Amino acid sequence: MKKIEPYSGFEQGPIRPPSESGSLLIRATRNCPWNRCTFCGLYKDQRFSLRPVSHVLGDIDLIHGYIEEIKNGKTSVGPRDHTAFQAAANWVQNGMKSIFLQDSNSLIMKPADLVIILAYLKDRFPTAKRVTSYARSHTIARISDENLEKMARAGLNRIHIGMESADDRVLSLIHKGTNKETQIRAGKKVKQAGIELSEYFMPGIGGKRFSRENALETADALNQINPDFIRLRTLAIPNNVELFKDLSTGAFEPMGDPQVAEEILLFIQSLEGISSTIKSDHILNLFQEVEGRLPRDKNRMTSVIERFLSLDKEEQMLYQIGRRSGLFSRLDDLDDPTLRTYAEHNYSDFNVTPENIDSIVGKMMRRFI
Ligand code: SF4
Repeated sequence: MKKIEPYSGFEQGPIRPPSESGSLLIRATRNCPWNRCTFCGLYKDQRFSLRPVSHVLGDIDLIHGYIEEIKNGKTSVGPRDHTAFQAAANWVQNGMKSIFLQDSNSLIMKPADLVIILAYLKDRFPTAKRVTSYARSHTIARISDENLEKMARAGLNRIHIGMESADDRVLSLIHKGTNKETQIRAGKKVKQAGIELSEYFMPGIGGKRFSRENALETADALNQINPDFIRLRTLAIPNNVELFKDLSTGAFEPMGDPQVAEEILLFIQSLEGISSTIKSDHILNLFQEVEGRLPRDKNRMTSVIERFLSLDKEEQMLYQIGRRSGLFSRLDDLDDPTLRTYAEHNYSDFNVTPENIDSIVGKMMRRFI
């Protein structure tokens, strides 16, 4: 019989989607069972493991206990339990509405184990309205409809999928381990189980060679799925990943912000017949205001991008520097005299030219990964 590792205390994984900033993070598995995407260095050299269910329940009990103590006025604990206490305190401060299961693909657990965890969360935290998780399309496509429905009934009500692209050439180049057909099937299964679906699109991941295909094929897949949310997360390439090597050898030709903007424009123009909400809540995106409900807000979203593309080159570069230095979040910030002055200082400090803008922006974006 396999020996269960001893419980060594509360655990927290490294990331969550931006929209889960107010959520309680409960680590159900560690790292990524796939770990081969060429653009991702998040779990590099980290071994995937399932956490024993009893350990996850132990974490939940710990948080539950701390919440009671916080409500009774406790403000700190010793260093050993600091992470758990902090997680409980943050959650109380954020109204205890949502929970996110970490790490990268919780649905790879045995469905019965996941249902136990979900049911326990519901029992311990009845005020939580939303329980969400990341999952891979490849994993979801292999779960029976019946098991997905059981998860939904137990409380799992939103799944985030890192689709990135639905172009088979791009998916194969980035070693995503799935294809367009599987992405569509997985997305439809989630919706059919009554679970909200959030799909991430990664503008720029096809490079110059497959930019058009990345936009058109991904839009086509999403048009077939009609997810609740389409989230933009623009490509940035950390220097510890496979794709960085391709970048150095010239095998991958990255695009500058204006070309990526053109790709997003084509992508949004190609979304037809769906009622998804587009979100641009990632700091790596050039425009935070490209958000809205389809089809109602489509023209408003595309007009922001068209306005950027129609700026003269200097003004475009100033916006890029302002955005990438964290000063600007929307195109209208160019008209804010204070923000503009700061952006102009950075622009001149960096000696920005049309020749070096892409490399400066690439370095600035890497700080956010
Ligand atoms: S599946 Fe997600 S976490 Fe895993 S390697 Fe790919 S992008 Fe990274």
